[in-house]
Amino acid sequence: MKKYLLISILALVSLTGIFCTTNAKTYTTPSKKYVALTFDDGPNENTTPLLLDILKAKNVHATFLLIGQNIQQCSGIVQRIYNEWHMIGNHTWDHIVLQWLSTRKIITEVQKTQKIIKKFTWYTPIIVRPPYGAQNGKILNILGRYHLASLQWSLDSNDWELPSSEKLVQNIMDNIQPWKIILMHDTLTGTVQAMWNIIDAIQKSGYTIVTVSELLWGPKYIHPGSIYRKGQ
Ligand SMILES: [Zn+2]
Repeated sequence: MKKYLLISILALVSLTGIFCTTNAKTYTTPSKKYVALTFDDGPNENTTPLLLDILKAKNVHATFLLIGQNIQQCSGIVQRIYNEWHMIGNHTWDHIVLQWLSTRKIITEVQKTQKIIKKFTWYTPIIVRPPYGAQNGKILNILGRYHLASLQWSLDSNDWELPSSEKLVQNIMDNIQPWKIILMHDTLTGTVQAMWNIIDAIQKSGYTIVTVSELLWGPKYIHPGSIYRKGQ
């Protein structure tokens, strides 16, 4: 009798163990492989709407880093980006290397862009992608003061080299890993044209495409003045 009792207790303990382990796993290591697509330098009146059409058809949400001075003439596109559940970030007003500028001018570059994005969407971005990824301690300090984080990347698609569609897909798929933030440009026709194939290839490899906010577990985990290159 004691033996059965012991076996029952052991079985109960091991079952509980399995459940606990399973529960713990869902919190610490999600089974899904996430990556984020990020598009710099828009909005562009020709190419951005085409990209939005593809993302909509594929039910994929991306992150757009907008140049302030492009926004006024493409305000409807910016509203569309926001309304279709993509994430919007700030890519400065003039797309200039921030390290060359005085503190006052860096603040102007960032704040003018924040204001025009808010004007058309009522949304205030929480991330800045410094042009060319160029940043230093001073810039991070300023971003922090204005409640902004720096968004870098961990996979450069090198789409600015204008590769063929096949080569662009290959650039991404040769280097893809869970949690990577992929850098592209929605201003490049070739990038937009390759997007059907890029999304197909990424999804067929078992990845889920999410926004930067989702990759980083939500806005409250995006801390002002911090740098983000990948999710975790
Ligand atoms: Zn750029």
